[in-house]
Parts: sequence; C-alpha cells; structure tokens
Amino acid sequence: VDKEELVRKLDEIVGKENVLSSDVDRESYSRDMGEFEGTPGVVARPGSEQEVERIVALADQHTIPILARGAGSSLTGAAVLKGAIMVDMRRMANVIHVDTINWHVRVQPGIALDDLNIELKKYGFFFPPDPASSYICTVGGAIAEGSGGLRCVKYGTMKDWVLSMRVVLPSGRVTTMGEPLAKNRAGYDLLHLMVGSEGTLGIITEAYLKIIPLPQNPDKRLLATFDSWDAVGNVIFDFKKAGIVPGLFEFIDKDHIRALNEKLGQNLEEAEATLIIDVEEAILTRTTDILRARGSTEVRVAKDQEEADTLYEVRANGLLAVKSLAPASMVEDVSVPLDRLGEFLRKVKLIASGNKLMIPVMGHAGDGNVHPIILYDNSDKDSSAAAAKAFEDVCRAAIELGGSISGEHGIGTQKVGLLREQLRSHDAEESLRLMKEIKRLFDPKGIMNPGKYVEAA
Ligand SMILES: Cc1cc2nc3c(=O)[nH]c(=O)nc-3n(C[C@H](O)[C@H](O)[C@H](O)COP(=O)(O)OP(=O)(O)OC[C@H]3O[C@@H](n4cnc5c(N)ncnc54)[C@H](O)[C@@H]3O)c2cc1C
Repeated sequence: VDKEELVRKLDEIVGKENVLSSDVDRESYSRDMGEFEGTPGVVARPGSEQEVERIVALADQHTIPILARGAGSSLTGAAVLKGAIMVDMRRMANVIHVDTINWHVRVQPGIALDDLNIELKKYGFFFPPDPASSYICTVGGAIAEGSGGLRCVKYGTMKDWVLSMRVVLPSGRVTTMGEPLAKNRAGYDLLHLMVGSEGTLGIITEAYLKIIPLPQNPDKRLLATFDSWDAVGNVIFDFKKAGIVPGLFEFIDKDHIRALNEKLGQNLEEAEATLIIDVEEAILTRTTDILRARGSTEVRVAKDQEEADTLYEVRANGLLAVKSLAPASMVEDVSVPLDRLGEFLRKVKLIASGNKLMIPVMGHAGDGNVHPIILYDNSDKDSSAAAAKAFEDVCRAAIELGGSISGEHGIGTQKVGLLREQLRSHDAEESLRLMKEIKRLFDPKGIMNPGKYVEAA
C-alpha cells in the first residue's frame, strides 16, 4: 500500500483531523527524551479501542511496522521507529470508573499519571508509582516500560499495581489479560508479560489499576549529609535492621549538589553524599538517631510542606542541573544488590577517572537503583568514545555484582547487547531464547515495534 492510500485508510478509521502526515508533524514525533531518533511514516490518534483494533489490523494486513506512543518520555529508543505507523494514545485519556470498595480504577491508557492522581484525590485515593516524569508520562507507557519511581521503595513499581488490561495484539485481535481481583490464579500470567514489554507485544487500550487511600498523616521529609559513602551504606543496613521502611529514600552526590548550587541558585551544603528521606512521624526520632550515629554532618527535618517540597525539588532537579554541566550526557539506570551499593559506587568513580570523564551519581538508595550520569562532549571524538566505553563499563560493573543493567528505564535499542550479556552472565540464556519465541508467537509478522529489546538481543 502506498503512503497516500495508507493515509486515506487511516483517515477513514480515526478521522482526517487525527492523522498527521506532514513532515513537520512527523518530525515532532521523531525523538524520545533520551534523544533517540526515528521519524514515523504517519501518526494516527485513535479515540477508542475499536479504532486501535482497525489500525493494527491494517498494519497486519499490509505488514507495516507499527508502535504505540504515550508521551515519548522514555529514554532508550523504545518510543521511536523510522517509517512506522505511530499510534499516539493520548486521546484515550478517560478515567472510566473509580471503585472505592474494591480499591481499583478502570482507566484508559493515554492519561498522564499526575492527572490520574488529581482525579483519584477527589475520592481520597492515590496511585503510588511515580516516575519523575509523572507530569507527562502515560498509564500505557508506564505499564509498557514497567516503570518505577521515587515512592517505589515503599510501594513497589508498576508491576505491583496492575490488575488487568485490554490489549490489541499484533494480529488485530483483542483480549483481556488478568482480572480486576485481589487474587487470581487462572492461567499463565500474561498480564505481567505485558508489563515491561516495551510496546513489542501489543497495544494496551484499557487497564484496571490498584489504588489505595491517601495516608492520613503525610510523612516527615528530611535531608541528611555525609562525608563518606560508606556511612550511607551503614545507614541503609541500619534502616533494614531496624525495620524502617522510608516512603522516599534518595541519594545525590557532591557533583549534583554543586550543579544545583551553581545552575539553579540553591544554597546546599556540598557534602560528599546527601540523602533525602521520608518517614512516618512515629519513627522520625529513631530515624534521625541512626543518621546521627552514622556521622551525618547535618540532619534537617522540613518544618512545613513548603520546605518539604523544596527538598523534593532538590532531588527532582538534580538531573537537569548536572546535564547542564556538559554538552551531552547519557543517563544510566542500573540496579545492584543493596549490600553491594557502596562497592558499586566506588567502581563508578574508578570508571570515571579511568575514562577521564565526570560521572555524577544519584538514585534510589532504598532499592539499589542507581542513575550514574555520564557527561561528555559530543563534538569531540575521544570524549564520545570514552563515554560509550564508560556506559558499558558501568553496566558490566553492575552485572558482575549480581545486578541488572536496567532497574526502570528498560532496554529499547540502547542496551540490547548488554541485555544479552546480563542474561548470559546470570545463566539465563535459555530464558532469552524463550523470550524470543514469545515475541514470535505474539507477533509472527514482526510488525510491532520491531528490531528492539528482546528480539534484537
Ligand atoms: C525527566 C525524566 C524522568 C524520568 N524518571 C523516571 C523514573 O523515575 N522512573 C522510570 O521508570 N522512568 C522514568 N523516566 C522514563 C519514562 O518517563 C518512563 O519510562 C515512562 O513511563 C514512559 O511513559 P510514556 O507515556 O512517555 O511512554 P513512551 O515513551 O511514549 O513509550 C514508552 C514505551 O511504551 C510503549 N507504549 C506507550 N503506550 C503504550 C500502550 N498504550 N500500549 C502498549 N505500549 C505502549 C511505547 O511503544 C514505548 O515502547 C523518566 C524520563 C524523563 C524524561
């Protein structure tokens, strides 16, 4: 089918105003937020599951590559594909039903997570997973990426909050996966196969998500500084031993704090390590006692919501601030066993000095998920080569310590080789073979977000 004919058929399905085929429009869908590129052939914006079904059936009939897109905020190349039919899901953004007895919400995939929470707040409920991009990222994108976030140390990631979903499969057929029930043991767990499938197995058109009541008393937020990472490691151990489960447990290094002071006009102590922690008021004293006993140079408890919000902004703006220190950057997302976090951070500093690069680190201390940010000059060949090497070295260091190359951002096209390395190194080669078979079973013509992730590994 030629492009004109394809556009005409899509016009029939979603209406002319919802088909974007001009160069300018396609260009606006050609990047994700990790700067991976691929201009789609055409963009369709469906308003219903039936329309998604018909678009996918069309792609199947003519064997045209197709992919869903939410906000395009992912960082690994998963949300761009040259020449494809791109299905922008953001017109399907309704909250269909909030169930305060069964504690779930039935929702369309195109709504942003923050907008979902604004709606749930009216009922006294909330949906905990909170990627730092929650102001734009969509329910569908967050499920497909298996996203995490700042509150996940207490509440878990997307996989823990999805009960059921409707999916248009690459064949154009539609199915339900899972049940909106607290317990369900009927058949293989296809639902969780879809979580983290990066748009390669089907397009999610609806989901039931678990929700919980908003806490009666908001946590207390505090900032603590340390002059060594070993001390931070000891705090993690002590929290675990004392059964302290923080609502938020983030760490930032000196480079981030310096960048925040210089670029965003903050006035923070430039300590080697800074922690931002939320805990229930009842255990606040126990928490601050541990921090002081482990040598914290400053423990500051936010006295009101405004100060608490400012501390959150420190963590949330850290990435933006360090990125402005260099012409280019690569954001890592490795996950390591908690008891090896200190060892891993020391290795990252060695990789930085060995490659003559700056690699600031921040991350989620409570679940061992680290975001080293590799800063480099993309106009300089040597600097770019050093950054590419450091990127792989950081992942390999995580793999060697029994960690994973991705805790939340996923694989896309960015880490396919490293995915293979991790699975090989952790004796999971046979699992990789099964994963490839699963992709073929779901998508025998290889049209849905092809050439990425498991298929390419
Ligand atoms: C500043 C910033 C901070 C971030 N912080 C975090 C963080 O804390 N934690 C974290 O996990 N990630 C984070 N991310 C990464 C990203 O925001 C998340 O992965 C997010 O969930 C992606 O949602 P999206 O709607 O933008 O999806 P997109 O980027 O549009 O798509 C991502 C993938 O999902 C697929 N997809 C989208 N919609 C559907 C659908 N309806 N059905 C099937 N597949 C679909 C796409 O095909 C693609 O493969 C961050 C990104 C930025 C830019």
